[in-house]
Amino acid sequence: MDIYDRLISGYREFKANYLGEENREWLKVAGEKQDPKVMMVACSDSRVHPAILTRTALGELFMVRNVANVVPPFEEGGGDSTYHGTSAAIEFAVNHLQVEHIIVMGHSGCGGIGALMDKSITEDTKGYSFIRPWMKIVEEAREFSELEEVSMSRESKIATCEKRAILISLNNLVSFPWVKDAVKGGKLQLHGWYFDIKSGVLSEYKHGAEKFEEIK
Ligand SMILES: [Zn+2]
Repeated sequence: MDIYDRLISGYREFKANYLGEENREWLKVAGEKQDPKVMMVACSDSRVHPAILTRTALGELFMVRNVANVVPPFEEGGGDSTYHGTSAAIEFAVNHLQVEHIIVMGHSGCGGIGALMDKSITEDTKGYSFIRPWMKIVEEAREFSELEEVSMSRESKIATCEKRAILISLNNLVSFPWVKDAVKGGKLQLHGWYFDIKSGVLSEYKHGAEKFEEIK
Protein backbone atom coordinates (compact mmCIF):
# COMPACT_ATOMS: atom_id res chain seq x y z
CA MET A 1 0.00 0.00 0.00
CA ASP A 2 1.48 3.37 -0.86
CA ILE A 3 1.77 6.10 1.76
CA TYR A 4 -1.22 8.09 0.56
CA ASP A 5 -3.49 5.03 0.67
CA ARG A 6 -2.20 4.30 4.17
CA LEU A 7 -3.30 7.76 5.28
CA ILE A 8 -6.80 7.18 3.95
CA SER A 9 -7.04 3.77 5.54
CA GLY A 10 -5.69 5.20 8.82
CA TYR A 11 -8.35 7.89 8.74
CA ARG A 12 -11.10 5.31 8.25
CA GLU A 13 -9.88 3.39 11.27
CA PHE A 14 -9.66 6.62 13.28
CA LYS A 15 -13.21 7.65 12.39
CA ALA A 16 -14.67 4.33 13.47
CA ASN A 17 -13.20 4.88 16.97
CA TYR A 18 -13.84 8.60 17.02
CA LEU A 19 -17.57 8.21 16.69
CA GLY A 20 -17.69 5.22 19.03
CA GLU A 21 -19.60 5.03 22.31
CA GLU A 22 -16.55 5.63 24.53
CA ASN A 23 -15.86 8.94 22.83
CA ARG A 24 -19.42 10.27 23.02
CA GLU A 25 -19.05 12.39 26.17
CA TRP A 26 -15.84 13.98 24.93
CA LEU A 27 -17.42 14.81 21.58
CA LYS A 28 -20.21 16.72 23.33
CA VAL A 29 -17.67 19.08 24.92
CA ALA A 30 -15.13 19.17 22.10
CA GLY A 31 -17.84 19.91 19.58
CA GLU A 32 -18.26 23.29 21.28
CA LYS A 33 -14.76 24.41 22.28
CA GLN A 34 -11.18 23.48 23.03
CA ASP A 35 -9.66 23.73 26.48
CA PRO A 36 -6.02 22.60 26.35
CA LYS A 37 -3.77 23.31 29.33
CA VAL A 38 -0.53 22.92 27.43
CA MET A 39 1.00 24.64 24.46
CA MET A 40 3.88 22.93 22.72
CA VAL A 41 6.32 24.56 20.33
CA ALA A 42 7.97 21.73 18.45
CA CYS A 43 9.94 21.18 15.27
CA SER A 44 8.23 20.22 12.02
CA ASP A 45 10.52 17.18 11.94
CA SER A 46 8.49 14.04 11.23
CA ARG A 47 10.31 12.04 13.93
CA VAL A 48 9.33 14.15 16.92
CA HIS A 49 5.57 14.27 16.99
CA PRO A 50 4.62 15.74 20.40
CA ALA A 51 1.28 13.96 20.77
CA ILE A 52 2.78 10.56 19.98
CA LEU A 53 5.77 11.22 22.22
CA THR A 54 3.64 12.19 25.22
CA ARG A 55 0.72 9.89 24.50
CA THR A 56 -1.70 12.78 24.60
CA ALA A 57 -5.10 12.81 22.97
CA LEU A 58 -7.00 15.24 20.80
CA GLY A 59 -7.77 18.43 22.70
CA GLU A 60 -4.81 18.21 25.09
CA LEU A 61 -2.02 19.99 23.25
CA PHE A 62 -2.23 23.36 21.55
CA MET A 63 0.58 23.06 19.10
CA VAL A 64 2.89 25.10 16.94
CA ARG A 65 5.36 23.25 14.79
CA ASN A 66 7.90 25.16 12.77
CA VAL A 67 11.44 24.71 11.51
CA ALA A 68 13.67 24.11 14.56
CA ASN A 69 10.96 24.93 17.14
CA VAL A 70 11.89 28.59 17.22
CA VAL A 71 10.07 31.28 19.17
CA PRO A 72 10.81 34.73 17.73
CA PRO A 73 11.16 37.72 20.05
CA PHE A 74 8.20 40.02 20.64
CA GLU A 75 8.17 42.38 17.70
CA GLU A 76 5.33 44.71 16.82
CA GLY A 77 4.55 45.47 13.21
CA GLY A 78 5.55 42.13 11.75
CA GLY A 79 9.26 42.78 11.57
CA ASP A 80 11.26 42.42 8.41
CA SER A 81 11.27 38.69 7.96
CA THR A 82 8.06 36.96 8.96
CA TYR A 83 4.36 37.29 9.40
CA HIS A 84 4.65 35.97 12.92
CA GLY A 85 2.41 32.94 12.76
CA THR A 86 4.15 31.57 15.82
CA SER A 87 3.64 34.82 17.77
CA ALA A 88 -0.07 34.79 16.90
CA ALA A 89 -0.39 31.23 18.20
CA ILE A 90 1.36 32.17 21.45
CA GLU A 91 -0.98 35.13 21.89
CA PHE A 92 -4.02 32.91 21.35
CA ALA A 93 -2.73 30.23 23.72
CA VAL A 94 -1.94 32.64 26.55
CA ASN A 95 -4.63 35.30 26.24
CA HIS A 96 -7.59 33.24 25.05
CA LEU A 97 -6.98 29.64 26.03
CA GLN A 98 -5.02 30.55 29.15
CA VAL A 99 -2.75 27.54 28.93
CA GLU A 100 -0.84 26.70 32.11
CA HIS A 101 2.33 25.39 30.45
CA ILE A 102 4.31 26.24 27.35
CA ILE A 103 6.88 23.66 26.36
CA VAL A 104 9.55 24.35 23.75
CA MET A 105 10.76 20.98 22.53
CA GLY A 106 13.94 20.64 20.51
CA HIS A 107 15.57 17.43 19.30
CA SER A 108 18.73 15.77 18.07
CA GLY A 109 19.62 15.80 14.39
CA CYS A 110 17.56 18.93 13.74
CA GLY A 111 17.81 19.95 10.08
CA GLY A 112 17.25 23.64 10.81
CA ILE A 113 19.98 23.71 13.43
CA GLY A 114 22.28 21.63 11.22
CA ALA A 115 21.88 24.22 8.47
CA LEU A 116 22.58 27.02 10.94
CA MET A 117 25.77 25.24 12.03
CA ASP A 118 26.88 24.71 8.44
CA LYS A 119 26.20 28.32 7.63
CA SER A 120 24.97 26.97 4.30
CA ILE A 121 21.61 28.58 4.72
CA THR A 122 22.55 31.72 6.57
CA GLU A 123 25.30 32.65 4.16
CA ASP A 124 23.95 31.34 0.89
CA THR A 125 23.16 34.31 -1.28
CA LYS A 126 21.71 32.42 -4.24
CA GLY A 127 17.97 33.03 -4.22
CA TYR A 128 15.71 33.91 -1.38
CA SER A 129 15.37 31.46 1.47
CA PHE A 130 12.65 31.71 4.08
CA ILE A 131 14.73 29.49 6.32
CA ARG A 132 17.68 31.90 6.41
CA PRO A 133 16.04 34.80 8.28
CA TRP A 134 14.05 32.33 10.37
CA MET A 135 17.16 30.59 11.69
CA LYS A 136 18.86 33.93 12.34
CA ILE A 137 16.56 34.25 15.35
CA VAL A 138 18.69 31.64 17.14
CA GLU A 139 22.04 32.50 15.56
CA GLU A 140 23.54 33.19 18.98
CA ALA A 141 23.17 29.44 19.67
CA ARG A 142 25.70 28.70 16.96
CA GLU A 143 28.12 31.23 18.34
CA PHE A 144 27.68 29.68 21.79
CA SER A 145 28.38 26.16 20.48
CA GLU A 146 31.53 27.40 18.74
CA LEU A 147 32.92 28.34 22.14
CA GLU A 148 33.13 24.62 22.96
CA GLU A 149 36.55 23.05 22.96
CA VAL A 150 37.98 22.19 19.56
CA SER A 151 38.26 18.56 20.65
CA MET A 152 34.49 18.23 20.98
CA SER A 153 32.85 16.26 18.18
CA ARG A 154 30.70 17.94 15.60
CA GLU A 155 27.73 15.95 16.93
CA SER A 156 28.30 17.33 20.41
CA LYS A 157 28.54 20.90 19.09
CA ILE A 158 25.30 20.50 17.18
CA ALA A 159 23.60 19.16 20.32
CA THR A 160 24.91 22.17 22.24
CA CYS A 161 23.51 24.46 19.56
CA GLU A 162 20.15 22.65 19.59
CA LYS A 163 19.87 22.99 23.35
CA ARG A 164 21.02 26.60 23.41
CA ALA A 165 18.41 27.46 20.77
CA ILE A 166 15.71 26.12 23.12
CA LEU A 167 16.91 28.51 25.82
CA ILE A 168 16.87 31.43 23.39
CA SER A 169 13.28 30.57 22.51
CA LEU A 170 12.34 30.38 26.21
CA ASN A 171 13.94 33.76 26.69
CA ASN A 172 12.08 35.15 23.69
CA LEU A 173 8.83 33.85 25.16
CA VAL A 174 9.12 36.19 28.14
CA SER A 175 9.66 39.14 25.81
CA PHE A 176 5.92 38.88 25.08
CA PRO A 177 4.39 41.13 27.76
CA TRP A 178 1.40 38.91 28.45
CA VAL A 179 3.59 35.81 28.75
CA LYS A 180 5.78 37.67 31.23
CA ASP A 181 2.73 38.76 33.24
CA ALA A 182 1.24 35.26 33.31
CA VAL A 183 4.55 33.77 34.47
CA LYS A 184 4.93 36.47 37.15
CA GLY A 185 1.36 35.86 38.30
CA GLY A 186 2.06 32.14 38.70
CA LYS A 187 -0.47 31.19 36.04
CA LEU A 188 1.98 29.98 33.44
CA GLN A 189 5.08 27.79 33.52
CA LEU A 190 7.67 27.60 30.76
CA HIS A 191 9.64 24.44 30.03
CA GLY A 192 12.50 23.46 27.74
CA TRP A 193 12.59 19.87 26.48
CA TYR A 194 15.14 18.07 24.36
CA PHE A 195 14.42 14.74 22.69
CA ASP A 196 17.27 12.51 21.59
CA ILE A 197 15.94 10.49 18.67
CA LYS A 198 18.41 7.59 18.78
CA SER A 199 18.15 6.87 22.52
CA GLY A 200 14.53 7.96 23.03
CA VAL A 201 15.69 10.00 26.02
CA LEU A 202 13.72 13.14 26.81
CA SER A 203 15.51 15.76 28.91
CA GLU A 204 14.15 18.78 30.70
CA TYR A 205 15.97 22.05 31.35
CA LYS A 206 16.51 22.61 35.07
CA HIS A 207 16.81 26.31 35.82
CA GLY A 208 18.62 25.81 39.13
CA ALA A 209 21.22 23.43 37.69
CA GLU A 210 21.30 25.35 34.39
CA LYS A 211 21.37 22.15 32.36
CA PHE A 212 19.18 19.58 30.67
CA GLU A 213 18.51 16.51 32.81
CA GLU A 214 17.00 13.24 31.69
CA ILE A 215 13.37 12.68 32.62
CA LYS A 216 13.18 9.20 34.17
ZN1 LIG B 1 14.17 19.98 13.90
